[in-house]
Amino acid sequence: MQVTPQGRGQAAGNGPKAGRAGRFFRHPEPGGTAGPVWPVFLTFKGCPGRCLFCAQPLQTGRPPRPLSRTLDAMSAGLEAAGRAGRGPYELAFYGGVFTGLPEPWPERFLAEAIRLRERGLVTRVRCSTRPDACDPARLARLAAAGLSLVELGAQTFDDGVLAASGRGHDAAATRRAARAVRAAGLSLGLQLLPGLPGHTPAAFARDAAETAALGPEIVRLYPCLVVAGTPLAALYRAGRYAPWDLGTTLAALAGALPVLWRAGARVARIGLAPQPDFDAAILAGPVHPALGARVRALALCDLVAAEVRALGGPAAGLAAPARFAGQFFGHGRELVPRYQALGLGPGTVRFEDREDFFLAARAV
Ligand code: SF4
Repeated sequence: MQVTPQGRGQAAGNGPKAGRAGRFFRHPEPGGTAGPVWPVFLTFKGCPGRCLFCAQPLQTGRPPRPLSRTLDAMSAGLEAAGRAGRGPYELAFYGGVFTGLPEPWPERFLAEAIRLRERGLVTRVRCSTRPDACDPARLARLAAAGLSLVELGAQTFDDGVLAASGRGHDAAATRRAARAVRAAGLSLGLQLLPGLPGHTPAAFARDAAETAALGPEIVRLYPCLVVAGTPLAALYRAGRYAPWDLGTTLAALAGALPVLWRAGARVARIGLAPQPDFDAAILAGPVHPALGARVRALALCDLVAAEVRALGGPAAGLAAPARFAGQFFGHGRELVPRYQALGLGPGTVRFEDREDFFLAARAV
């Protein structure tokens, strides 16, 4: 295979032959990785009710407990980590509605977080919350108290789906909350939950576009699962709800990734982290242990396919950055037939120490 100049306009010993055309392109995923996170689970604290799909105690492995115990455990855990030479960590309050906690609990947690930050154990502080718990004045106070980033559980921007899911707020509340987060000087995160009752892949594509337009720093994508003990499980058992199948989910999420990446959003999570009790309670839904890797590989395959189409003729080969070698052909090499259909079988793809891709056109 002869496909590979080592960068735009550079000569290379085994680069393309004179006159051979090709296309350079880059992967659109923003760079940068998060540091270690210290999660603090507030299981159901601050929640106005139980959302249709939510199984926080199973999901996090943490049953509800008094906030005072959560605070004590947070301090003791971080102090112990510091003594063991671990950290510092980004402190993350998950599993409840941090900005909806009764006062002065958010301030109390943040005061302790700042104390730990001054000791070098914490870098910054983030929380997840509901869009309808984002009073601008309270966000401003929490920003002043040390909060850095707020992740909104948007789930979707489709009002019909939000209503059918009994979420208790509409998409306008999410837009207002996103503006309030920004106005308070906080970084924005958004969480989407594709596959809720009445949701469609087309609606999810609109969700991705609207999410991208809000310019979040990070996005998490949690395809909707049916978990025993939730109201959604009752709907499922009554035949009134069916989750998306895995293929639909993979395609929809892969379509969303480039939209989010091109807006500068880091997609920090695709699917829930494995948790034995939670996994055992899943009744139905698009579950796969390598969901995120499969979605990312499919998104890359779609990007390469678009470049092959733009080439306007058959491809001769592809030089790709070495960091994509593990994911390129997909889980269990499931994408090999797709690449072969593009003229890019395994023998024509080479992984190199380079940042961009080079797609070589076949001489005709
Ligand atoms: S989804 Fe969020 S707001 Fe709803 S019950 Fe779960 S933790 Fe509470």
